[in-house]
Amino acid sequence: MPADSQNLTWFDAHSHLQDPRLAPHLPQVLARARAAGLARLHVDATCEADWSAVAALADAHPGLVICSFGIHPWFIQGRSARWLQNLRDLLATRPAGIGEIGLDARMDDSLDADREAVFRAQLDLSCELALPASLHCRDAWNPMLQILLALPPHPAGLLIHAYSGPADALPDLAAKNIHISFGGTLTRPQNARARENAARVPPGHFLLESDAPDLPPTLPGDIPPHLVGDDGKTLSEPAYIPYVGQILADLRNTAPGDIAAQATATARRLFAKLLT
Ligand SMILES: [Zn+2]
Repeated sequence: MPADSQNLTWFDAHSHLQDPRLAPHLPQVLARARAAGLARLHVDATCEADWSAVAALADAHPGLVICSFGIHPWFIQGRSARWLQNLRDLLATRPAGIGEIGLDARMDDSLDADREAVFRAQLDLSCELALPASLHCRDAWNPMLQILLALPPHPAGLLIHAYSGPADALPDLAAKNIHISFGGTLTRPQNARARENAARVPPGHFLLESDAPDLPPTLPGDIPPHLVGDDGKTLSEPAYIPYVGQILADLRNTAPGDIAAQATATARRLFAKLLT
């Protein structure tokens, strides 16, 4: 029986439902999410320019959408001179986390030092305010792990989304109150690293995510994609999470219901301050 037909409750730990590619389809995306058993959708901002759209989504869907604000490593160039104060001011007005923030060494520009400074400032803020933060990391696992493992355990908890770092680091990350989430990349049969991480992440430290509209799952032939982008690729959306959860269950030798219960409980604990 497919994992989305068993009345399970799921939690999307990381998405970008404010993305303009989803805007025309949002009512259907949310309806499909509810029908698939998604109880909560966490939406991450990416730059100051989309903070108001993210806030509007949470305001429009109380009890369903929760949110985080921050500057993604791809968009640091567009930040204002007052960006950090703007972030503080916004976080003082509503329940929210910090995200998406992080490091990316595949940017082909000369801004890596700036990128690290913007990341560290937001990470420090998350420690100071005891708010959960959501992290991106691509090809920068050495500096990322060095920074994270030098910290004391995070007071609220961190989430590394689409984790593709080394499996050996997972117990040390867990000891720092750092969690990892799995999404579409786990469904790619050639992704041996994600599968190893899925099998080895300690209980209580894994979540599930759509990263909508990016990183779509590779769907089996009997599940047609709901939305396709201009480039012909499937757009990811929260309704695919039960399918990812089923794969995670197989890799951990357990039932989808056990994965749904564990991942949802972990998300509720990590994002407790965001849940209103
Ligand atoms: Zn993301």
